[in-house]
Amino acid sequence: MNAMKAVVFERHGGVEVLEYRDDLPIPQIGPNDVLLNIKATTMNYNCIWARKGLPGMDFLLPHINGTDASGVVVDIGSEVKHVKVGDEVLVLGAFSCMQCEHCASGWPMFCPDYRIWGFQTGPLDGAEAEYGRVPAVNVVPKPSNVGHEGAAAIGAVLATAWRMLVTRARMQSGDWVMVWGASGGLGTVAIQLCKAFNAKVIAIAGSDAKCQLAADLGADHVINRNKQRIAREVMKITGKRGVDIVFEHSGAETWETSQQCLKWGGTIVTCGATTGFKATMDIRFLWNKQQTYLGSHYATMAELKESLLCVERGQIKPVLHEVISLKDVARGHEILESGEVLGKIVLIPG
Ligand SMILES: [Zn+2]
Repeated sequence: MNAMKAVVFERHGGVEVLEYRDDLPIPQIGPNDVLLNIKATTMNYNCIWARKGLPGMDFLLPHINGTDASGVVVDIGSEVKHVKVGDEVLVLGAFSCMQCEHCASGWPMFCPDYRIWGFQTGPLDGAEAEYGRVPAVNVVPKPSNVGHEGAAAIGAVLATAWRMLVTRARMQSGDWVMVWGASGGLGTVAIQLCKAFNAKVIAIAGSDAKCQLAADLGADHVINRNKQRIAREVMKITGKRGVDIVFEHSGAETWETSQQCLKWGGTIVTCGATTGFKATMDIRFLWNKQQTYLGSHYATMAELKESLLCVERGQIKPVLHEVISLKDVARGHEILESGEVLGKIVLIPG
């Protein structure tokens, strides 16, 4: 065994640059790493950005995408003590030095060595492969009540939503939370997380099927953004008060509406900007209404572990749009880019 299957690209471009190969080297592990036989990974918007290339960001080529993984440990480094060969684990795909002041104080995102796996790592270092090298501190036991596909689908989005809503925005029971992109990977877990905390959800989605999914997941109200005026509906639902928290990950197209729907003193928390990085903003909302705008990036191991307890307890379930073979990854890119996703696209080797 010295070669593995993986999806790789050697230049940026359309889906035609994605190449499924079976002759790539199996990663070599260091003393603090584990080697994972990857059973499932998922698609994130980073996969699209990495494939297309982002201005101002140098990707190490050849590149293997993939930040989430669930799989079985097949080898461990000499210094690894808490993970065994044969363990079924889930990966937090954000690696850092674990020694600097930021890592030690619970802010690994500020670590100078912070890297998102399969996005900023490389070359040939990502989860869209048969095997992956991962620091042992970045794996947690897979929840016992979901398979590898479900585990890969839920880990990163749930931990990200947990950090946004619980750690950063300090969601409370009874809060009104407005969730953008309610039918996507992040939205589907955000709705369930809000309900686990007994918060009230206004879900925003772009089609009847997407609205139905949000309602099925427990959203108290659903707004079809292509048919209804969002701010007017939100004010009607909340008795002209506005929501306590807006769950943002869309950016340029939605930011102004997020501000309009937010109550005086409310909080917008964001972890991304898939519709564009530059939004306009009426600064009166900031000083007069004393709204708070918080950024949030991925999650810590503690947040992943704590959020997975909700999965173990059956409060939050993965939502899988489709399971696709790595060979057909191009189709996954097309579906994700079209915006026609209900939950997560899972990729399996083979
Ligand atoms: Zn560090």
